[in-house]
Amino acid sequence: MADEFPFEISPMFEGERIRKDNMHVELAGPKSIGFELVRAADMNDLEDDKFTLIGPDIADMAEGSRYPIAMIYKIAGELVETDLESIVERRNHEFQNYIQGLMHLNQRDDVWLRVSKEAVKKGLTSFEQIAKAIMMLFKNELPFIEKVETVYITDQAEIEKEIENARAVYQARDDRTKGLHDEDVDTFYGCTLCQSFAPTNVCVITPDRISLCGAINWFDGRAAAKVDPEGPQFAIEKGELVDAASGEYSGVNEHAKRLSNGEYDRLKLHSFFEYPHTSCGCFEVVGFYVPEVDGIGWVDRDFAGTAPNGLQFSTMAGQTGGGKQVVGFLGIGVNYFRSPKFISADGGWDRVVWMPSMLKQKVLDSIPAELKDKIATDEDVKDVESLKNFLKEKDHPVVKRWVVEEEEAPEEEEAEVSQAPQAQYQQQPMQYVPQQMPAGFMPSMPMMGGSGSGGVKIVLKNAKVTVDKIIIKKIE
Ligand code: SF4
Repeated sequence: MADEFPFEISPMFEGERIRKDNMHVELAGPKSIGFELVRAADMNDLEDDKFTLIGPDIADMAEGSRYPIAMIYKIAGELVETDLESIVERRNHEFQNYIQGLMHLNQRDDVWLRVSKEAVKKGLTSFEQIAKAIMMLFKNELPFIEKVETVYITDQAEIEKEIENARAVYQARDDRTKGLHDEDVDTFYGCTLCQSFAPTNVCVITPDRISLCGAINWFDGRAAAKVDPEGPQFAIEKGELVDAASGEYSGVNEHAKRLSNGEYDRLKLHSFFEYPHTSCGCFEVVGFYVPEVDGIGWVDRDFAGTAPNGLQFSTMAGQTGGGKQVVGFLGIGVNYFRSPKFISADGGWDRVVWMPSMLKQKVLDSIPAELKDKIATDEDVKDVESLKNFLKEKDHPVVKRWVVEEEEAPEEEEAEVSQAPQAQYQQQPMQYVPQQMPAGFMPSMPMMGGSGSGGVKIVLKNAKVTVDKIIIKKIE
């Protein structure tokens, strides 16, 4: 059946990147608009395999151009229910990436597609070819879908009309988990879709933790596991509660070990520093530790500027992704900001020091009232120094951590350190070793005096020191 298409269809094309120079056309993305949406429909309300295009087709698009795109799929079947919409919608990302010469990134109203020049040369000249391939894959791979009909829109005005409806659907899905919490259920859900490019990624979806991609919530996971228990979304029995504050469960740890092929055996759902959730690459937002203020900043895909640490989203995303537990960085879905357990192991909102102003506006309702003015944005500060001043001026809760650290420094230790000839502790009182020292992080260390500085003793507390190689040389 796939012979009818002028392109190959295979999972081996997942991960294919189409660079600007090799792109025939770009669709949606950060410089345009677009969305993907799946809706459950009644069997009688759709015509199987029907495709409609509103707006110009690929053949009408000049090389190097950019257009908006909306992709709307209606699905029907005896087992199809509204909770399955997000699951099928997420598979659009996967299946479009099976098509050689088509790149699909992100999800919902953040989608970003590119069609390569080679694909167009080989005959990919119509969206109908793509839509037909996706409809075929939906029905082959997701047998609960008995009928599917597709509408693609590339007309800007039409998409502007439709996009608000799509956003209302996303919002309604996200709102469903508001009254349900991790402790109310016995089962969480896992997803391995992103293991194709992040092999050790362990995605755990709970009522209080939406997926990193932001596209799958606990209800969606449940619906998917019900209709296709052997599929990429599956049930995880919670097991015993190991630690409530960080959201550690024995069942999650067992799955983490199995799914990561033994790379991780602990995963704390609501922890930023210790055994954090893995980050694949689909996350909507990256959190980053700012050691100079002992706080956490968050940057989203839509922010094109530079965070106070001097890095852009794309740079931090590169460091965070790949399915690792990266201490000091964490990928999340936007809706996790709305969770009452949002990084509860590490102070929750009290630890948040910076966000892009657009992202802050988006989640403003979830920020505790007393913190709304204390979290800096790109409009308030540009670098770590101005962030530090802002937090101090606003009396942000992290400032108390600085004071506590200074006051709590044990006398003996102070005395020992203060003997160091170049002790940075004294020169830079704003720097400290945080209470919850992220493993592998040494945000600020007293300067080591040279050997033979006369009985100086440096005490490292809560520090993890790893030495890969020691070279011993004879001093001539
Ligand atoms: S981010 Fe997680 S939930 Fe979303 S598709 Fe990837 S593995 Fe699945």
